[in-house]
Amino acid sequence: MLKKFISSQRILLTFLPLLILNLFSCAPRITEESYLVIKVIDGDTVELASGEKLRYIGIDTPEKEDPFYQEAKDFNRQLVEGKIIKLEFDVQRKDKYGRLLGYVYLDDTFVNAELLKVGLAVLYTYPPNVKYVDYFTEIQKDARQEKRGIWSQVKEELNYYVAVKGSKRFHRPDCRSVRSAKPEKLLKFKTRDQALDKGYSACRRCKP
Ligand SMILES: [Zn+2]
Repeated sequence: MLKKFISSQRILLTFLPLLILNLFSCAPRITEESYLVIKVIDGDTVELASGEKLRYIGIDTPEKEDPFYQEAKDFNRQLVEGKIIKLEFDVQRKDKYGRLLGYVYLDDTFVNAELLKVGLAVLYTYPPNVKYVDYFTEIQKDARQEKRGIWSQVKEELNYYVAVKGSKRFHRPDCRSVRSAKPEKLLKFKTRDQALDKGYSACRRCKP
């Protein structure tokens, strides 16, 4: 009960300045494509004032048990919490969990790209939502070369990596996800860099 009271107080406190600002025409208005972020859930998911969840697309930030989880969450929070964002959609507007899928803008900042730039997110594409895959691949390449965030971790290089044709993930050769794939359906990469340069993302199960 107390918690509920506090959280409704918090929402009121978040809204109040906005309401006051909106009385003056110079302030940003909440329009159709504008959304108020009330809470950051992690590096790539937020809750909106409408009660909807929003998942940033084209990228993926570390899970709770992974390094840089907290850094990504904090970075996202500093950028968008309590702020009005604008959303751009790709082919699918929502995922199977009912979450909005979007490219997020805060004034001139492209938030999805910003997370990639500082190395707190990796490229992660779900076709058919591929609008910025080339742009994101380039930004990620820069973050990798500069060894920012996630890319500062030293990983042992395997003999080779594989991907199933048509997918956007690469795996360790012994990953369960590729074990039953026919050899003619498999692509091979000599190095991790080769796979990443081509816009493939590391499988979340085998973490190659
Ligand atoms: Zn795998």
